This record gives sequence, structure tokens and C-alpha cells, in this order.
Amino acid sequence: MKDLVMELTGVFGPSGDESIICEYISEAVKDYADDIRTDALGNLIVYKKGLSSEKKIMFAAHMDSIGLMVTYIEDNGCMRFTVLGGVAPAVIANQKVIFKNGIVGVVSYEGKDCSSTGPMEKFYIDIGTSSREETSEFVSQGDTCVYFAPSAELANDMLASPYIDNRVSCAILMECIKSVKEVKYDTYFVFTTQEEVGMRGAKAAAFGIMPDIGIAVDVTIVPEAINPVRNSVLQLGAGPAIKIKDHSVVCSPMVKDMLVDIALKEGIPYQLEIIEFGGCDTAAIQLTGAGIPAGCISIPIRYVHTMSETVSMVDVENALTLVSKVVETGAGL
Ligand SMILES: [Zn+2]
Repeated sequence: MKDLVMELTGVFGPSGDESIICEYISEAVKDYADDIRTDALGNLIVYKKGLSSEKKIMFAAHMDSIGLMVTYIEDNGCMRFTVLGGVAPAVIANQKVIFKNGIVGVVSYEGKDCSSTGPMEKFYIDIGTSSREETSEFVSQGDTCVYFAPSAELANDMLASPYIDNRVSCAILMECIKSVKEVKYDTYFVFTTQEEVGMRGAKAAAFGIMPDIGIAVDVTIVPEAINPVRNSVLQLGAGPAIKIKDHSVVCSPMVKDMLVDIALKEGIPYQLEIIEFGGCDTAAIQLTGAGIPAGCISIPIRYVHTMSETVSMVDVENALTLVSKVVETGAGL
């Protein structure tokens, strides 16, 4: 599982440009699916037939990552950019990025006095070229790039890497697709697109499937990564979090209770998540059609949206067990 997570975090796939990560996941799980397809938004929908077709369950793990998009190439060859999702100036200053074609650049900013928390207009990408013409041979307006940094194992079975958000959840769904023993109801494992720019893929996928229940799997933030004054109860290694609320959604109490019941019954450690920020695909699924009961299983991480998002593999394994039990028991429907 650790190898899979590390591998996935290195696959290219910023919001809106998910074809490579989509292909990667598709190849890995297609032999375990009863049907597999992509929709118009690029969502990868992996279907496993249930013992009963009376109900439909949908899982959603977004496969897109945050990134940068080139907006303008200067005369000197440096590129201006806009951001895809929550990219902070302090995080990207003096870091390396990589484009889909393998070209690597360095992100820096104008002026000695420009702090790394300064306005994004001062920032640029340098790929080592010295003119617009030269840069244009490698990169065009609208091209996207992602953080280029290695993943690493830490002590206590922890992993630090860019894009743990949300490749860790993709790994969990992939592993569930391969290993789940019994599927009670027809189950759709959706690897969604464009979550980081507003949960867009999940909206279309949920409409296409119209499940009886929807469950997103995504990361959540433990206090070290945000403001320590806010006294979140979430901890690394204390189990996956069952979401009650974030900035985008109040989860269905029915789904929340179902997840808690399964965790208690199966002896899976869990935490309850109530945070005032962030968002997840649950929000999009919930408001689809005439409304869909939706919840979320969250993997706690530190240092979200940096090159060093840190996760405990113990939480990952427990989340996999929880997801698998939901599939096997039919989510209490
Ligand atoms: Zn996420």
C-alpha cells in the first residue's frame, strides 16, 4: 500500500488535465471491474456489480491535484502563471515544478524585497530559457505543471510527499476494488476530476450515476498544518475521520451514523471531523438531482497543499478496512 501511495503521488494530473493519472488508475484496476468508463468531465467510473441491484452506492476520490497554469510568457522567457486550487506563495517560492512533457522549472519571484508570501503577480517560472521564442518550444499558454519533489518515508510508518491529497484516497479505492470480498449493492468507485477548483467532476459523475448514497474519500487537516490556536481534535494515527462538517458541507446524519456504526462494530479506530474550512466532493454529490444522502471518510494529514503532506499509513490501512466494510455490508441501506 505504501508503495502504491508513493507511486501515485508522482503521477501527473493537475485539475483539468487528469488524463495521465486517469490512465494509470484505469490500467491498474480494469481487470477487477465489471465495467469501467470515463465521462465527459474525465471522471473515471469503475463499476462493481453487487449481489443485489436494488441500491447504488457511489464512492468518490478526486484524482486531480493542485498545480500552476501558464498565463503569459515574458520577453526574457520567464512565465507568469495562475493557480489551480489552493497554492500558497510561501509554499512554491524557490521550488521546482514539472510540466506534462517532463520539462522542469523553478518558481521564483521578482525583487529582493518581495516576501514569499507576497502577491502571486510577482511570481514566475524559469525553465532556463532566455527568450519567449525559446520557452515556446517547450511550453505554451495554458500548459499546467505540478510540484516536483520526492516522496519519503518518515518514522512511525508515516509518509511525506506532495499530492498525498488526494492520491492516498485513490490508493484506498484502488485497493478496495482489488481486494473487497463481497459487494452487496451495485457500487461505483469514481476517481473524480477538478475537485481542487470547485468539486466539478463529482457533480457530473453523481448526476450520471444517481446513487442512493454517496461517500467521498479525501484528506483532512490536523492542527499542526493550520492554526494551532484552533483546537481541532484530529490527530495523525488515531484513525480515519468520519466527517460531520467542513466549510462546504454538513454531511447526512444517516451516512455519518452508518459509518460510525460500521467502525464500532468492526473495531476500526475513527475520529469525528468538524472543521471550519476546506471542502470535498461530498458537497457536490449531496446537491445533485433532488439531493443525495452523502458523507465523507477523511484521511488526516499534516502540511496540506505543500511538498510535504504527511500521512500515517496506519490511518490509511484503517480507512481501507472501513471503505471495504461499507461495500461488503451495503452501507446499511
Ligand atoms: Zn483533496
